[in-house]
Amino acid sequence: MAFVSMKELLQEAKEHHYAIGQFNINGLQWTKAILEAAEEERSPVIAAASDRLIDYLGGFKTVSAMVAALIEEMSISVPVVLHLDHGKNPERCKQAIDAGFSSVMIDGSHSPIDENIAMTKEVVSYARARNVSVEAEVGTVGGMEDGLIGGVQYADIGECERIVKETGIDALAAALGSVHGKYQGEPNLGFKEMEEISRVTDIPLVLHGASGIPADQIARTIRLGHAKININTECMVAWTEKTRSAFKDNPDLYEPRAYMTPGISAVKETVKYKMREFGSSGKAVCTQKIEI
Ligand code: 13P
Repeated sequence: MAFVSMKELLQEAKEHHYAIGQFNINGLQWTKAILEAAEEERSPVIAAASDRLIDYLGGFKTVSAMVAALIEEMSISVPVVLHLDHGKNPERCKQAIDAGFSSVMIDGSHSPIDENIAMTKEVVSYARARNVSVEAEVGTVGGMEDGLIGGVQYADIGECERIVKETGIDALAAALGSVHGKYQGEPNLGFKEMEEISRVTDIPLVLHGASGIPADQIARTIRLGHAKININTECMVAWTEKTRSAFKDNPDLYEPRAYMTPGISAVKETVKYKMREFGSSGKAVCTQKIEI
């Protein structure tokens, strides 16, 4: 299989106090930039497609085939997880798994906890038989994601404990004040609750909405058990700023490669910067055999 499950990668990261970045993909060139960054940094990487973007990206099979082909053509040797971000329901997660995704997030956080647990259990039993890792969410990450806006709702500690014990998930996104998209003012994360949730659940935690969170706070989330950190907005902003200035500097541009290349390089630099910040650079173990 071209992709690896994130289960062992996250356990290793948690044990050694670093985090692996999840970088959302927004097209083929974008994926190439993420993979290039990971290879140059010798970092494991989680390339993620958000469920709401799957159709835009061409469907589950297209995404899976595209990332797998890039890994082969680019001779990528670091571990790559292909992850479904914010899977809407068990059926969508199963479709992703059938198409070759090696990891899925079932996002039942908008339903009451009993329903969330039931949905998550269904996904775990399908995924486990296929060596696919599963992430679930409790509480609500605020802000805007792929066009949907929601308010922050802190994860309940008892609910976090229940979902981990009753479902056997590999990673938990416990919403504690982080926001998808741009922050209005300073981020205000619930570190006290984070410490408690990490202690009672004892599994790798996932930080959604990490764009815009200062490095010292990111380091603290890692110390408190976060082993997966999700970044999308910072890459999108970097790409858009470069693309905007490419048109400003030369309004006559019409060749996509000419106006997209600076933005794609900015995505790659952002990913590399984040990998160093999360401490995952240099942590890759080769997935391909080296001939001697
Ligand atoms: P940002 O867009 O805030 O970086 O969050 C990404 C994310 O959490 C994807 O699930």
